[in-house]
Amino acid sequence: MRVLFATSEATPFIKSGGLADVLGSLPKEMVKKGVESIVVLPKYQDMKLADKIEFVTNFDIWVGWRKVYCGVFTYVVDGVRFYFIDNEQYYRRPGLYGYDDDYERFAYFDFAVLELISHLDIKPDIIHLHDWQTAMIAMLYKERYCYYEHYDNIKIVFTIHNIAFQGKADPKLLSELFGLDNYLYYNGNCRNDGCLNMMKAAIFYSDIVTTVSPTYAKEILTSEYGEGLQSILEMRKYDLYGILNGVDYDVINPETDPQIVKNYNIETVFDDKVVNKLALQKEVGLPENKDVALIGIVTRLTKQKGLDLIINQFSEMCSRDVQIVILGAGDHVYEDALKGIAYHHPDKVSLQLKYDFGLSCRIYAGCDMFLMPSLFEPCGLSQMMSLRYGTIPIVRETGGLKDSVQPYNEYANTGTGFSFANYNAHEMMKTIDYALKVYDDSKAWRQIMIRAMNAKLDWDASADQYLKVFNSLMG
Ligand code: ADP
Repeated sequence: MRVLFATSEATPFIKSGGLADVLGSLPKEMVKKGVESIVVLPKYQDMKLADKIEFVTNFDIWVGWRKVYCGVFTYVVDGVRFYFIDNEQYYRRPGLYGYDDDYERFAYFDFAVLELISHLDIKPDIIHLHDWQTAMIAMLYKERYCYYEHYDNIKIVFTIHNIAFQGKADPKLLSELFGLDNYLYYNGNCRNDGCLNMMKAAIFYSDIVTTVSPTYAKEILTSEYGEGLQSILEMRKYDLYGILNGVDYDVINPETDPQIVKNYNIETVFDDKVVNKLALQKEVGLPENKDVALIGIVTRLTKQKGLDLIINQFSEMCSRDVQIVILGAGDHVYEDALKGIAYHHPDKVSLQLKYDFGLSCRIYAGCDMFLMPSLFEPCGLSQMMSLRYGTIPIVRETGGLKDSVQPYNEYANTGTGFSFANYNAHEMMKTIDYALKVYDDSKAWRQIMIRAMNAKLDWDASADQYLKVFNSLMG
């Protein structure tokens, strides 16, 4: 089976969020299961390993009425062949997204992915699409390319990583950029709220739709979480699967992580985690104290991540015997609010307003608890990383948080973390208080740590589920 993964980002080349981690891991895991994996992504200016990739070919493609250059480079990592689409006009800029012509940049990419198939003679059995940037490939394929030579009988799988980002564009772009007839807009298959909605198009045209956790797959069928796409999802619900993302256990590993002060494993965690804790306290300017409960938060500062609950209860949290280290960047409203409160608790709170990969690893390694009270969370990697590092997550029971953190049950002595159901600040605070109470019982806490570190959240089982979906499409 040959699967072509089309994506706007993938590790180890370029990353802005969890999507890149998935595309760095899933194709690699698929190779282990005997699938030929090809990943196609844009060749960005800020890409890592750019000096390693090799030129393959170039050709011209049409984007709307314009003929545009398309260069192709390649590189193989862990058995996965990556192709990079090169066009300096579109990708020779800092960062990945956020430009006025993003719809054109990714319409170009969508055509490039489809054209690549015949130019390199690499017809796949499955094209696996991810989020709005590649969503229109589903429509282009079903409305046009499937009738061309070299393109028959390819199946399309679309994965929703976050339904909040749908690619809502001016309807006229359907013909101007994608060269498709306007009636395809008016018949409703890609229309939503007066816009061309690229994610809706992919939900309608793909053979199978997946999302990144079983709970999120159910949640997006409701008006509360569906962001306006719940009706089309309801229509496709028998072809909708929730498959929990994994984490790459080769990379996310306290035993080998070069970013942390002292490596540890499940046997040495009780002695060596505290070394990381004291070093972290020193690094972020908190009093060095091995007994105080150290709570970590690593997050984009956005509404999605439950910042309103955290800010609401911040002073209350500080009244407990805790220290809190926050690493985050994002919305200025949240940055300002956190700054205001942190200012009054210099001995308890360390606020690190930046993106810092190394520090994030040291927080996962050095903290006792990890707070993630998301409003919604399609899957979430941070809680899985903290489990792997023996740092106990406190989460809201939504999306992938619900599917990856098993709540502590003191009577059965089971569970890997603490959770609460409603998006309610007091409920969150009650759960934190409960976690602090259990933390004081070091025997119980250590057992939770062991279970957390033993939780198997790697890609193996998730890749098996994708394989099952792909196989079902191939009959
Ligand atoms: P999302 O993709 O919605 O932001 P995830 O939990 O799926 O959330 O993934 C977030 C990833 O980004 C995690 O690996 C987390 O450690 C990392 N991260 C988030 N904010 C920062 C930051 N300020 N500095 C370093 N890493 C960060």
